[in-house]
This record gives sequence, structure tokens and C-alpha cells, in this order.
Amino acid sequence: MSNIAKQTISSIREGLLSRRFSATEITVQALAFAAGENPKTNAYLRLCPERALAAAAKVDAALAAGESLGLLAGVPVAVKDVILTKGVITTCGSKILEHYNPPYDATAVERLEAAGGIIIGKTNCDEFAMGSSNENSAFGPVRNPVAPDRVPGGSSGGSAAVVAQGTAVVSLGSDTGGSIRQPASFCGVVGVTPTYGRVSRYGLSAFASTLDHIGPFARNVSDAATLLEVMAGRDPLDSTSAAAPVPSYAASLTGDVRGMRVGVPVEYMKHATGETATLIYQALDTLRGLGCEVVDVSLPSTDYAVATYYVIATAEASSNLARYDGVRYTTRSAEASSLISMYQHSRGEGFGPEVKRRIMLGTYVLSHGYYDAYYVKAQRVRALIARDFTQAFGGSAQGKLDAIVAPVSPFPAFKLGEKVDDPVAMYLSDIYTITGSLAGIPCMSVPCGLTSEGLPVGLQILCDHFKEPEMFRLAHAFESAVGSASSN
Ligand code: GLN
Repeated sequence: MSNIAKQTISSIREGLLSRRFSATEITVQALAFAAGENPKTNAYLRLCPERALAAAAKVDAALAAGESLGLLAGVPVAVKDVILTKGVITTCGSKILEHYNPPYDATAVERLEAAGGIIIGKTNCDEFAMGSSNENSAFGPVRNPVAPDRVPGGSSGGSAAVVAQGTAVVSLGSDTGGSIRQPASFCGVVGVTPTYGRVSRYGLSAFASTLDHIGPFARNVSDAATLLEVMAGRDPLDSTSAAAPVPSYAASLTGDVRGMRVGVPVEYMKHATGETATLIYQALDTLRGLGCEVVDVSLPSTDYAVATYYVIATAEASSNLARYDGVRYTTRSAEASSLISMYQHSRGEGFGPEVKRRIMLGTYVLSHGYYDAYYVKAQRVRALIARDFTQAFGGSAQGKLDAIVAPVSPFPAFKLGEKVDDPVAMYLSDIYTITGSLAGIPCMSVPCGLTSEGLPVGLQILCDHFKEPEMFRLAHAFESAVGSASSN
């Protein structure tokens, strides 16, 4: 078969149906390619050949029996290591879970395998998804396949890198404050954060439960839309999953975006500088050329978003991570002279510095006497941030918008090591992505060009709750106008 790095979901389907190759052949080739390429990036923490070959054999048997193929038949998929896979070690990028073998699959994983997807491996990430560069992984950083001296972004750095590198056709990431969109932007691939509740969180290791999302990475919008369609929908095992019916996202890719009203937040663009700003302004021209009406929009609470996020996310993390205690799930410290000392040493030895910083910050903002001043106040500001979007999409003095477009990140991929010693500089990487996460709306990154150094820049598209079809339609029309990564 031809180069795995050039395959898409539809090219694989077509190859299977015309018997040009089997799912087993694709899987063998993908596993070998991933193993060969991985030393360059450290993007996979482990491959799972047994599971992959068993899944491929099922697809081949279905094909031989003349059964209809699932939407992801034979497609090599990589899964971020915060998403549980039964029988395949899932570390969350943390030493504390180094040997954790989950007893069940995440619902998203189960659904993608039921659709014929082939999980080939688990991808590196920042520890417990806390970070913006993948440098907080206990298993070493990931290198950006586009520029190996640079970070791939984070926290889903490995999942973005494997798709950019071509060792997986699509992958799963998780996004709490930007962890899908920002690495997608840095690696030049498509990354989607769906509406909160659109994809079940069952089996996603919890960081900040009111903000956590599972979403797809792909080399084009159509593949991302298909992967989301397979995973989306109500799951009785996640009470926050939405009952709203899942439309055919592929059917929304009509190419026609004439008359769409697209807002550009003035609060974002006033800080945008350099080549990122230039590329975003060019993207606005492209959208105008496609027949969109591009207008300014004000999202006045934007300036408070980073502070609000780092109160709410750390508060929830401090509670969620209390379960890693040296008794359940985790590696236990050898120092266990008393119960309390065993807890302390297991956590002290198992968690890395960023995770400890967040647990301490989160414990502080929830503590007696500070709860109202920090946590309650942050919840109120979160409501204001969400209201900015409701007004922009729902109609206000500014008129009703179909979408908002913005940068994903203030800068392209930075050098490895450049921001590791400055947590606040790292937190500010997420300044454009955190607002959408706090509002729970669907948002995505679609490649919009390269800087003069050849570094990818993503355009962020944000839409109202459950408006993924409109978001994909706009992204797909934009991608067709600028050329998708997989058509290079
Ligand atoms: N970079 C942000 C953080 O460190 C977002 C992470 C994420 O979305 N998981 O919290």
C-alpha cells in the first residue's frame, strides 16, 4: 500500500473495499512506521500491537463476510495517555501511574473500536494534562515533528505530533483549557474541542471535571468530523453527557459559507502581534472571499479568563487528584512507617512539580476563609465570560453571529526549555483558548499558514453550543481555500 502518512479515513475505506490492502496490512505498516519514527519525537509512550492486530483481524473478517464497514474501518488511531484503555498501561504522563493497567475502556475508545478504528498506541502528554508544551511529562518531552528543537504544544502534544508526523491517521486528545487546539496549531493539524458534554468523559482521567473534553486530531477537517461523529452522543456512564442527537457532521461540509456572519473579538486582536496576527488577518480576507461577513465583536470579560481558569481548574484538580494516594491505582512509596507518611511519600514521590503546584493552589482557593474570595468569585466571572458568547451568538446590539474566529495562541511553537522555568508565561499561552473552554462551546484549530521560519499557525473557530455542523462547515471551506495538510 502507499505511504501510511498520506492516508485519510476515506482513502483507507476505499482501499479496503477495493481489496488493495487489508486492515491487517495497514496496521502492520502503521505499527512499524510508528516504532521507526518515535525516537525522533518521543510522541508515543507505548504501542499496543496485540490489541491493534486483534482489531484489524475483526475488520478483515467483517470485510470477508461481506458485512458493512464501520466509519473508521481499518483506520490507525492513537490515544492520549489520559484516556483509559483496558489492558494497556495508561500513565497520564505521571510517575504515580507508571504501572496502572485500567480495568475498563473509556466510552470514546469503545465507540471508536466498535466503528472499526485500530488503536495502535498511547501518546505522551503533560502530566495529568497540566501544561502547554508537553514538557511536564514524567516520560520526557515530545519534539515537534515540524521543528524538532521546538515544543509540539500541550498538553496533548503527543497526539498532535503523531498526526503531523503521519504515524497515525487520527488521534484522540483531551482539552481542559486549550490542550487540543494549541498543539494542533503548533503542529499544523486540525484539532477539535467539542461542546462540553458532546463526548462522554467516562474513562477520561479527571483533571477539572467541568472543563474536561475529549476531542479529535486529524490532518483534515473531514476526518476530524468523522471521528467526532463516531464518539459523540449520550452515555449513561457520564451524567454530564448530552442527549442531543448527533447529526452527520460529514453532511455539513457543503463548501458554501456565503452569508455567514463571523465575529473577530477586538479584545483578542488588540494583543495580536507579529506573524501570527498577519496570518490571522490574511485568514479574515480568505473568509471574506468565501462570502462571509466579517465583523468586530466585543467579549468584554476576556481579560479575566486566565485568572478565572487557574482558580477553577486547580480547585477541581486538587479534589480529583486526591484519589492518587498510594493505595488505589498507584505506585506506593517504600517509606510507609505510618498511614499518613505513606500517603505523603507516595504523592510526594509520584507527582511532578507542576501537578504539586496546582494541587497546592487548588487546595488554597478552596480553603476555609478563601473559598468565597477566590472560588465563588471565579465561578461568577465564569458566568460573565459565558454570557459574552451567549450575547454574541444569541443576538445583541452587535447582531447575531454564526461563528467567532481568533488566533489559537499568541505565538507559534516555542523552543524546548524556553518557558519551563516561568509557569506564568506558560499559563499565558492559553489566553485565547481558555475562554471557549470556560463557556463550554465548541471550538477548533484549523491550519492557516506558516511563519517565515516555517512554523504552523492555526485559526481558531468558535461557535455556539452544539453548532459543530456550522463550525465544521466554515473550517472545511477555509481549509479548501488554503489547502489542507493531507493534500500537500
Ligand atoms: N495549558 C492549560 C493548562 O495547563 C490547559 C491544559 C488542558 O487543556 N488540559 O491547564
